[in-house]
Amino acid sequence: MKVDVFVIGAGAAGLTAARIAAEKGLKVLVAEKGSGATIQSSGVIDVAGYLPSGFLFASASEGVRIIARENKSHPYSIIGGGQETEPEKRVKESEKLVRKALKDFVESMNSVRVNFMGSLDENVLVTNFVGTFKPTCLCPSTIYNGNTKNLDNSSVIFVGVKGFPDYDPKFCAQSFSDIAPGLKIKPKSVNHAYLDIPGLEGRGDILAIEIARRMDDPETLEKIGQNLQKRIESADHIAIPTAGVKSPEENIKTLAEAAGANVFELTSFPPSVPGYRLVKLLEKAAQNAGASVRRGYKVVGANCNKMVKSLKVEIGRKITEIEADVYILASGSFLGGGLKEEKDFLKESMFNLPVYSSDGTNLEEVCLEKLLSRNVFPMGGHKLFSSGINVNEKLQPISDKGEPVYGNLYAAGSVLSGYNYIAEKSGMGVAIVTGYLAGLNASG
Ligand SMILES: Cc1cc2nc3c(=O)[nH]c(=O)nc-3n(C[C@H](O)[C@H](O)[C@H](O)COP(=O)(O)OP(=O)(O)OC[C@H]3O[C@@H](n4cnc5c(N)ncnc54)[C@H](O)[C@@H]3O)c2cc1C
Repeated sequence: MKVDVFVIGAGAAGLTAARIAAEKGLKVLVAEKGSGATIQSSGVIDVAGYLPSGFLFASASEGVRIIARENKSHPYSIIGGGQETEPEKRVKESEKLVRKALKDFVESMNSVRVNFMGSLDENVLVTNFVGTFKPTCLCPSTIYNGNTKNLDNSSVIFVGVKGFPDYDPKFCAQSFSDIAPGLKIKPKSVNHAYLDIPGLEGRGDILAIEIARRMDDPETLEKIGQNLQKRIESADHIAIPTAGVKSPEENIKTLAEAAGANVFELTSFPPSVPGYRLVKLLEKAAQNAGASVRRGYKVVGANCNKMVKSLKVEIGRKITEIEADVYILASGSFLGGGLKEEKDFLKESMFNLPVYSSDGTNLEEVCLEKLLSRNVFPMGGHKLFSSGINVNEKLQPISDKGEPVYGNLYAAGSVLSGYNYIAEKSGMGVAIVTGYLAGLNASG
């Protein structure tokens, strides 16, 4: 089998790269061995939330500019031209590319009928299942409606579902009330309530995906709306744990009409319905562009000299060799499987590419333990989580000498070194922007 572009990984980075290359008319194959971080995510697009020191960026664009100026090895610097480029030029080029890539992302989501709202020029704070907040850049409209600016000076009710153990609305409301003043948000009142979901009554082990599927059923949704009306006397805003899988925007509208209030979804922890939706949407957009996405295709070996010639792919019990002109490594970090621990050392899983920490140290002889701090939550995060492969400004993996390891290999997403998405809140931003650039570069 032969294709033009072989993408390893179907997370945010791989699916974005695949869509871009397919839009250029290339024959694209995406192989995925199993799920990675994207499906676990809260489904909102963080671009730049914090500096490692904890400084909160007012906007993603401010974050990208500061990072590209000050942190030479960050992917936002690399895409702006890399270490050798003048800082001001790097900042300008990086911001330009980030804006282009995210505009393209929003348009691709519109093409599959989903509205992502927000702006690179203003981070918003969104609320999660435990009533805390995080800064983010773009969200599905169902989540964006509940950003904290909207909640100021109004009454908010957190609604839970009886028998759904992952979300306690009472705890969430309390935590929201405690934290809000520190963020200069003064809700008029914060309360909580519980609903029964028709078809799930009497159970104590309900999953978020089950509630979401009930929301997608028009008859059940109508009954949920009636339950909301009965339970809630009046509120300006109602927070619900999930709005559905297939038609969350329409479901939210229906519930808002029934309750006479703004209804929004909370961001959640894994297993996350918005994360699942995001993967499905990215996949649909890539497929609509012509890319072929194959789940259960595990890349187990590579045939390379100075170029990657072909990959060995395990499909069921068979090993098949697939050739391509260009390859994109979007295999993720630990959750995805792009990076792994081997005999106490950190390794890249597929091509045995050299792995570096964010300060540029080659980790070949550095024991993994040294990349972890004794403090569980160190300022700026553990070094391990900003380690990965180094790339040049074209996103080709490079060696110690700065030369591309293979002429026809590009890389994108969380397999890259130089950033810690947990500490920075930049996960999807880096994945989408580097996926976009890798897709363009792979298309020649
Ligand atoms: C719990 C959690 C919540 C998060 N929430 C957010 C959020 O709200 N907003 C945000 O911006 N970021 C968030 N992030 C970060 C974000 O999810 C990641 O930065 C992003 O998803 C990385 O995308 P990726 O495409 O690089 O990797 P992944 O999504 O991990 O994809 C890697 C892919 O490579 C495949 N793969 C690996 N090895 C092979 C192989 N040998 N053969 C074939 N396929 C292979 C995997 O199966 C997978 O499909 C969160 C992360 C976590 C863990």
